[in-house]
Amino acid sequence: MTDITNIDDLPIRDELKGKSPYGAPQLHVPVLLNTNENPYSLPDDLVARIAERVAEAARNLNRYPDRDAVELRTRLAAYLTGSTGHAVTKEQVWAANGSNEIIQQLMQTFGGSGRTALGFSPTYQMHDLISRGTGTRWIEGPRNEDFTIDEDAAVAALVAERPDVLFLCSPNNPTGTALARGAVERLYDAAQSVKPTLVIVDEAYVEFSHQPSLLSLLDGRPLMVVTRTMSKAFGAAGLRLGYFAATPAVVDAVQLVRLPYHLSAVTQATALAALDFTDVLLGYVEKLKSERDRIVTELRTMGLEVTDSDANFVQFGRFQNTRAVWQAILDQGVLVRDNGVPGRLRVTAGTPAENDAFLDAVRTAIKEL
Ligand code: PMP
Repeated sequence: MTDITNIDDLPIRDELKGKSPYGAPQLHVPVLLNTNENPYSLPDDLVARIAERVAEAARNLNRYPDRDAVELRTRLAAYLTGSTGHAVTKEQVWAANGSNEIIQQLMQTFGGSGRTALGFSPTYQMHDLISRGTGTRWIEGPRNEDFTIDEDAAVAALVAERPDVLFLCSPNNPTGTALARGAVERLYDAAQSVKPTLVIVDEAYVEFSHQPSLLSLLDGRPLMVVTRTMSKAFGAAGLRLGYFAATPAVVDAVQLVRLPYHLSAVTQATALAALDFTDVLLGYVEKLKSERDRIVTELRTMGLEVTDSDANFVQFGRFQNTRAVWQAILDQGVLVRDNGVPGRLRVTAGTPAENDAFLDAVRTAIKEL
């Protein structure tokens, strides 16, 4: 028998061959600005509330959790309604372990063998990987030079490729680009005119946007889904809680693929405690938005090309030798992300002190190289 020493030696599925697992390097340096996390740890009174709610949940850990997470979905629906002004009910909301799992459940339901998903590159790599992981053919449409979506080219791609699922990411990772409401309306209509197409609008970063949420577009668009997460604005990446809003039939449909009791009682209790502190946590978002805008301005003052950002991160360049700039910034103790976009790097907005360290590191890096 031949030795099996790595993935390539294994009879894995064709669509996974040659792909790399998703994940940024986890290096131990003083300033970590590479994974779009919220730099503020949870306030002490929230930590105490989590401990209380988890203790209550622990008493019943001999039982399975609420399989339908009704209390949590009710609170998430109230958050969406309160923060966007667009009424959403618990029947329209579904929750899972991070929005990655949400996207996976949607793709298990609406993608799969013989089906196609379309996204616009560069975009969040997990849209591609989850599509492949669920046996869905993944195709990429182009973006303009400024990373906005070329609407005419997008409509042409919808007509040519006839996808079953269309991914729109607003604000887009890794570019920070928000989609105009009119563009989403046009692409939704164009997709439906070809065939019934699930349109997933990934709003993981929307709380940081200068633009309002696209949630109200759900009205009259039964095949639109808006995905959200508590990993960014709620500063709870370690919690693993993502959710979506859509017409209730879409929530019913994902019940066919979700694992029973997928959301542990501890997760549900922790998320409920965090939602009690929504106002405090969204206060940090305001600080991060102004820090994000400061980073954009200061990088532009250095003469760099900076993509307009509606997220908690900023894409900047252009560099001849992107890897060397990444390394020069790292040598000064600051970790940023190379997403493979030619000539560009991405930095997450951190605390003011972390951002100062980053800006100093860039000044030094571009002087040296
Ligand atoms: N969507 C986008 C656009 C993201 O950037 C991320 C996280 N990097 C996610 C979804 C997934 O977030 P989570 O699973 O932590 O909710």
